[in-house]
Amino acid sequence: MLADALISLLGPEKVSTAQDILETHSIDKWHASNLPEAVVFAESTEDVAKTLQYANEHNIPVTTRGAGVGYVGGCVPTRGGIALSVMRMNKILDLAPMDGVAVVQPGVITGELQAAAREIGWYYPPDPASLKECSIGGNIATNAGGPRCLKYGVTRSYVLGLEVVLADGRVMRTGGRNHKNKTGFDLVGLMTGSEGLLGVVTEATLRIIPHPPTRSMVSATFDTFADAARAVQEILGGGILPSALEITDGFTLEAARNYLGRDALPAGDAHLIVELDGQVESVAREIQQLADRVRELGAVGLNIAQSDEECEAVWQLRRGFSYSLRATGLTKLNEDIVVPRSKLVELVAFAREIEADTGIAVACFGHAGDGNIHTNLMVDNYDDPEEKVKADAAVDQLFRWVIANGGAITGEHGVGIAKRQWFADAVGETSYAVHKQLKAALDPNGILNPDKVL
Ligand SMILES: Cc1cc2nc3c(=O)[nH]c(=O)nc-3n(C[C@H](O)[C@H](O)[C@H](O)COP(=O)(O)OP(=O)(O)OC[C@H]3O[C@@H](n4cnc5c(N)ncnc54)[C@H](O)[C@@H]3O)c2cc1C
Repeated sequence: MLADALISLLGPEKVSTAQDILETHSIDKWHASNLPEAVVFAESTEDVAKTLQYANEHNIPVTTRGAGVGYVGGCVPTRGGIALSVMRMNKILDLAPMDGVAVVQPGVITGELQAAAREIGWYYPPDPASLKECSIGGNIATNAGGPRCLKYGVTRSYVLGLEVVLADGRVMRTGGRNHKNKTGFDLVGLMTGSEGLLGVVTEATLRIIPHPPTRSMVSATFDTFADAARAVQEILGGGILPSALEITDGFTLEAARNYLGRDALPAGDAHLIVELDGQVESVAREIQQLADRVRELGAVGLNIAQSDEECEAVWQLRRGFSYSLRATGLTKLNEDIVVPRSKLVELVAFAREIEADTGIAVACFGHAGDGNIHTNLMVDNYDDPEEKVKADAAVDQLFRWVIANGGAITGEHGVGIAKRQWFADAVGETSYAVHKQLKAALDPNGILNPDKVL
């Protein structure tokens, strides 16, 4: 039996077949689920290597799991086999401002790394909204992003070096503490975003940067989404690169007013958050210029937040948008699509067409600066077969429009199972074939995370 073999390989305390453990390792935050045969709790690179070597020799599927808060079914063990958790490998091994690096194990929680860096005046910028729960290994595997990625870049921009266990159990170290390194192919880039299909990340050397001393923020409402989208272009065209630039549509605002109170947000059918960070004097000057410009561009309500606490209060409100949508009682199908920034208005107009065609409300909000708009189809009852068919057809319509308009079907969450059916069309025939060739070269028996992406 698989569990017996794993126990003799790793010891009983690192293997479980308890029903509740199998269940918690059968899902993520998407709606697919399947029980693994056994869960391995790796405590070292050696544990991961032994597990993979054994699985490869016996053709056993292995699904690597971080914190399990993915949105695309990425860590669901669709073929049973082994769910390989790296969450016991959760140490920050080194925090070294002199080299501008943090060396971490994959199970470190992103928010905890940020807090540790912050304590010594340094900064690890990637900020997925799930940062209090998700793991660095999961962030690397999905190339996670968040609001501040407009200025600072996504997870890939911070991965300098990786230790990865390959499908056959070999341990590869690539990159390291050097901030520039052009020795060989960009294997760090290949592994980042590979969704657990090419290897298991067991250690990462991450770039950290000095923490900007201050930040300030303008939040404003506009009469129409088109006015707010125009303001986005004007702000960036005016030579300011905000640390975050977030846009929200009228449907979401109305849900927020219903949930958080009518006074929580001034009148208007679109909302913009523009955050700046940097040195105290320059941020104080620029935030005033920015506020003047946003008023000229037609803001109907405007607030300036000038301290960490005031900015945090606005982010708190912004985080409330997601809960407000949930509070509508509808099921939220959250699609993290991206369009070229010039197409933001067309995207929202298309969302309104979907609404009119299907009767399914569509709530749009997200990272306007990088065109990454979370487009949420608000479905009455996704468990109802008829509703499900209608909702799935609407999602298909949305993805086809995104692909036809030069967008990307996922900017943050990854492909996993959720977006697999559109993947080949999204990347094109040759790129799809190259993905398959790379997978076959690194994992010839196809044991790592089968049924995902490809
Ligand atoms: C409320 C909420 C908000 C979110 N907001 C954002 C957001 O703003 N931005 C964003 O990018 N994402 C967001 N997400 C999605 C999710 O949190 C990220 O995808 C995150 O990176 C997943 O990390 P995890 O540790 O939970 O990974 P898991 O869900 O455990 O795994 C995700 C994928 O990574 C693979 N994997 C995990 N660890 C490793 C490893 N060590 N080596 C190799 N492969 C591995 C798994 O096999 C799987 O394919 C959000 C999710 C939720 C629930």
